[in-house]
Amino acid sequence: MIHIPENIRSLQTYKPGKASDAVLQQQPIVLCSNENNFGPSPMAVEAIKEASERIFLYPDPTAQQLRTKLAQHLGIQADQLVFGNGSDAILSTLFNAFFSAGESILTSSGSFVSLYPMAQMNRVPVHKVPLTEEYGFDLHKLLLNIRPHTKAIYLCNPNNPTGAMIPQEELEQFLDQVPEHILVIVDEAYFEFAEYMSAAYPDSTRLGYENVISLRTFSKAYGLAGVRLGYAIGPVPLIEALTKVKLTFNPNLLAQAAGVAALQDEAHVQKTLSNNAIWLDRFSQTFRQMGIRYAPSYANFLMLDLESEEKATEFCQHLQAKGILVRHLASFGLPHCVRVSVGRPAENERMLEVVQARFGLLRQEH
Ligand code: PMP
Repeated sequence: MIHIPENIRSLQTYKPGKASDAVLQQQPIVLCSNENNFGPSPMAVEAIKEASERIFLYPDPTAQQLRTKLAQHLGIQADQLVFGNGSDAILSTLFNAFFSAGESILTSSGSFVSLYPMAQMNRVPVHKVPLTEEYGFDLHKLLLNIRPHTKAIYLCNPNNPTGAMIPQEELEQFLDQVPEHILVIVDEAYFEFAEYMSAAYPDSTRLGYENVISLRTFSKAYGLAGVRLGYAIGPVPLIEALTKVKLTFNPNLLAQAAGVAALQDEAHVQKTLSNNAIWLDRFSQTFRQMGIRYAPSYANFLMLDLESEEKATEFCQHLQAKGILVRHLASFGLPHCVRVSVGRPAENERMLEVVQARFGLLRQEH
């Protein structure tokens, strides 16, 4: 018998936000995984088709073309970047590259759901402080909980699944107080959305700290979740360590080609970002009128607080019965909450219509 270590045995198998293939075949409205329902730029799709003629070749392990384009786009040095098979692959590499036995990671509860098992599978203990009342990271509590064994702090800005944002001033004050030997990972999977919506949203890569690594992705604003392409931006010595550890031929050739093309289609991203801002407003306005609590969001989703697990379950089941998939946040440790992604206009319209027809009326009756 092969012994499976306890840290692996006790992991839960990932429960995807999406329903089974059978449900997906009925072509539901998918608002459960914070994807971009406009899809990627047609230029990215075309680039994938062209690149498919070369898929018998290994991809460029340094992703030179993508690296050059993205460095230009971001206004940073090319050697400040490392790419991965989605930003979750890079998060996983961070555990391999920086942690020694006995070192722990400090973060908040109610944040990115993959972080916690990823730490566990890498035998890194996770210390969590609770979210603030506004569903944000409690930076004060995080500082108070730094211990000699703390190797890194994980922040998610804006936070998935709550949408809360850490403004520039608070982030800088926090980073000033974190000891230099502690790595701060700032997960900015929803960077483009937040930057579009708020002047107070900080670009963590521009703050000049030598212990900060920022994670970004092509899965959200660029609509490329299915091809898996993410990256980290950071100081060169940290990026070098990550580059040594990452699997060599990751990301793949199609993802690299898609990324290069996606960066050229600024109009597509702008359309996505403006649609998102308009509909987040509409979502917020409608739920406010209905008396449903929500957390103000700077990402491409809105988290609703339905006050009890029963109500949250009923909400999701009703929408699913009407062909709309949203995310119940029980597995995120927020069983009374539901996360609704922003989709295309007709999808959003339909979601609001279904919610109002069922739950709007209910509230007026009582
Ligand atoms: N970080 C956060 C906060 C996320 O929400 C997600 C995706 N849901 C990821 C990382 C991973 O993104 P990807 O691996 O697709 O780049």
